[in-house]
Amino acid sequence: MRPVILFPLFADIRTLSGVGPKLEKLIAKVAGPKLADLAFDLPVSVVDRSYRPKLAAAEPGRIATVDVTVLEHFAPRVKSQPYKVRVSDDTAMMDLVFFRSHADYLAGLLPVGARRVLSGRIEKFKDRLQMAHPDYVVAPEDITSFPLQEPIYSLTEGLTARTMAKAVRGAVDKVPPLPEWQDPAFLKQRKWDAFGTALEKAHAPAHDSDLSPTTPARQRLAYDELLANQLALLLIRAKLRGGKGRVTSGTGKLKAAAIAALPFTLTDPQLAALAEIEQDMASEKRMLRLLQGDVGSGKTIVALLAMLKTVEDGLQAALMAPTELLVRQHLASLEPYAAAAGVRLACLTGREKGASRAETLARLAAGEIDILIGTHALFSEDVTFKDLGLAVVDEQHRFGVHQRMQLQSKGKPADVLVMTATPIPRTLALTAYGDMDVSRITGRPPGRKPVETRVMGADRMGDLIAHLRVALDRGARAYWVCPLVEESEKIDLAAAQDRAVMLRQALGLDVGLVHGKLKAAERDAAMEAFKAGQTQLLVATTVIEVGVDVPEATIMVVEHAERFGLAQLHQLRGRVGRGKEKSSCILVWHQPIGQTARARLKTMRETDDGFVIAEEDLRLRGPGEVLGRRQSGLLEFRMADPAIHAEFLDIAHDDARLILRRDPGLKSSRGEALRTLLYLFGRDDAVRCMRAG
Ligand code: ADP
Ligand code: MG
Repeated sequence: MRPVILFPLFADIRTLSGVGPKLEKLIAKVAGPKLADLAFDLPVSVVDRSYRPKLAAAEPGRIATVDVTVLEHFAPRVKSQPYKVRVSDDTAMMDLVFFRSHADYLAGLLPVGARRVLSGRIEKFKDRLQMAHPDYVVAPEDITSFPLQEPIYSLTEGLTARTMAKAVRGAVDKVPPLPEWQDPAFLKQRKWDAFGTALEKAHAPAHDSDLSPTTPARQRLAYDELLANQLALLLIRAKLRGGKGRVTSGTGKLKAAAIAALPFTLTDPQLAALAEIEQDMASEKRMLRLLQGDVGSGKTIVALLAMLKTVEDGLQAALMAPTELLVRQHLASLEPYAAAAGVRLACLTGREKGASRAETLARLAAGEIDILIGTHALFSEDVTFKDLGLAVVDEQHRFGVHQRMQLQSKGKPADVLVMTATPIPRTLALTAYGDMDVSRITGRPPGRKPVETRVMGADRMGDLIAHLRVALDRGARAYWVCPLVEESEKIDLAAAQDRAVMLRQALGLDVGLVHGKLKAAERDAAMEAFKAGQTQLLVATTVIEVGVDVPEATIMVVEHAERFGLAQLHQLRGRVGRGKEKSSCILVWHQPIGQTARARLKTMRETDDGFVIAEEDLRLRGPGEVLGRRQSGLLEFRMADPAIHAEFLDIAHDDARLILRRDPGLKSSRGEALRTLLYLFGRDDAVRCMRAG
């Protein structure tokens, strides 16, 4: 159980004074639902209000704090005009400008003749100084009521910087003094503060340099998070590996039959990965292996051959995919080989209901199904295998460690193979899959043509559409991807819809549209129409990233390419180049585009090696730059950045191993403190592992 000392931090955000249901939702969206989430949400910038010039000397464009006297109010004659208040010090005059503000309120805030301290951005407008909506207006004696250095946190529509800062402050104030979990000698060597002090400092930046991930305070916090992560993964690994696995030797018969039915020969990397998997399966240890390989690198066939080996031993196998669509796809592509091997396949998703579902479950329990393919539905309580030997999880970065555990809790220990299409850099693999062994399928299957990648500015949209028209007239099929992020969901959705309308008009063609807000059935229908060639052009938000196989699609247009991360761009590009025809990927960028985004697009043009792209992605990743940081599911860190703190990752890994070797049950007094650390970072799952083991 979570230590009592941490209870206040795991209270809901709404327990903070001034935070009601509406604010809670907004804050939870940017930070998370608990006070701990808020406390770990570090500032992204700082407003320095310590610049205190005389008005005559004030540099326009800077945030300044000035002492003034109120001279006169000018109420607007028409509503659309701003309300103005003229102020001055002994050097110059300045106009305060307010839009849509109440006169009564302003009269009270800025009485004529009164002295006031104002803080805000000073601008020069037609030779006159002005300040629109000052951030702070206080009487001189209240100057201490606002911070001269104000931390700014990530925000969302409807959430103001000040409200967020106040909420974070409230959460940080609830952080109790905690026992030290780090090795004192290590702390001393690094000159790091205690956790609480470091957290305080991280939330109180005075200058931009204090926001750097390499300040001692932020380093300390990052290390804490990385250590918690590594400890947790090792604990889970120990638990999963604890029980004896099965020895699956197989006769090789089914495998041979399936291989004979393949219209291609397996590549060397596929064979190498299969050999590693088979070795695991044949050993007494339970297999926990990650099969990493680019989109289309041929992981699924490898997984099938592994599953057949299980079936040869009279056991069952399960293949789990994150979406209904992917399940259908797997089923369709594996069926011919399964048939060739005489293996019984079945499918279980949320759609199977009533009698047919009951029948599937009965056959499964009776051992009349050899391989079951399905979604999350495989986790349902009532799903019982007669004897599950191997579980394959096609992760597509949708499931996490937690789900992998759940799968384990089903009956006898089964081998586990996780497939991921995200090429993960070495450092990241350690943080996300430190509990697993890794096999990699590098390169693409033979016969695949590389995708020609072009990068263009949105100002050339006209040319692009003209080219697209020619290609579509020839019968091509194309994706047109628009970005969609949660923060600007409404705007993005509208933009995607507008784009579909615009393209429909410009091309005079039926244009499909899919996005996350559609009902699953509608989305599937739109996808099916595209797959069948009824619609030649599909406008989509990133939902198609999750895996669609339409070999006839040869064109991928990505709009606002500057807003996508490298990994995502790579995944999107992988949707084309799957058939015999030459494919192209057009990355369209809009202004403004930053340095990092430019570098990303350049990388995309230069390479199509997923592993190279992944390393580059990590290197380029700037704070707040990458769309889908959360979506990726890999970077669940709040204070650590594996790209920047890579050095600490190795240390934390070794540290965690040493700790568990000396004190596997975390029973020493440092062990107790480390348990607190695990709970602090929400790794309750790992602590549970330890107790059970
Ligand atoms: P992944 O699961 O890694 O995205 P798949 O296993 O779905 O990739 O394979 C993508 C496509 O490539 C499938 O149509 C599959 O039949 C085909 N394929 C797999 N291995 C090979 C190979 N060695 N040579 C040619 N085609 C292959
Ligand atoms: Mg696949």
